[in-house]
Amino acid sequence: MRRLFSIMILLIVMGTLFCQDKAQQAKKTEVWEPVPPVVTPGENNAPPSDALVLFDGTDLSGWVDKEGNPAKWVLEDGAMTVAEKAGPIYSREKFADCQLHIEFRIPVEDKGEGQGKGNSGVFLQNRYEVQVLDSYENKTYVNGQCGAIYKQHIPLVNACLPPGEWQTYNIFFTAPRFNDDKSLKSPGYITVVHNGVLIHNHVELQGPSVWIGKPKYEYHEMLQPIMLQDHGHPVSYRNIWVRRLE
Ligand code: MG
Repeated sequence: MRRLFSIMILLIVMGTLFCQDKAQQAKKTEVWEPVPPVVTPGENNAPPSDALVLFDGTDLSGWVDKEGNPAKWVLEDGAMTVAEKAGPIYSREKFADCQLHIEFRIPVEDKGEGQGKGNSGVFLQNRYEVQVLDSYENKTYVNGQCGAIYKQHIPLVNACLPPGEWQTYNIFFTAPRFNDDKSLKSPGYITVVHNGVLIHNHVELQGPSVWIGKPKYEYHEMLQPIMLQDHGHPVSYRNIWVRRLE
């Protein structure tokens, strides 16, 4: 009886030591610093607390035209719309790696077809285009449909809403890197969520978006504006915010 009792005590002691050793082992892989900064998320697509708001519906002060003059798009009902012959607009702030939230609306009145219906575009670093187009029931080449990384990547699915409805892009962009001799060090990458649906999962950019021919990287400075394309269609934008990731 006494012997059995001793064995039990021994087992308990061994068990305790074993558990203590496990806890010590586990502690070796715990990381306590750096502590991530606290960010308050936004509700209903509102910007999180660390975002830079590029357009909140009240003014166009965050945007300029090609010459650097104030953007001349139409400001109405909390949205800004491509104006006739106003040209593309550029964010005053410049970005490299970033998370971009942007909302767009294709006009119902636009009666064109193919690339001629609701065409605009969101250009990261002023040269890498996420296509904006009406692709709800409007056929075109698939690497140029809405959500395409223009002429480079076909969206995984078509998550378009009909013209007249507000749609969202959440874009996660890794800028290309260049060596000191201006050759390409690493390509850019992009992830796009369209209306809550993943349509590009960290796809590699082949170079700037071009209409004709194959894309080819050319050296550029890291910090570049976000450009919104004027393709002659009165596409509207609203609620634009960016989080820097560099
Ligand atoms: Mg376009």
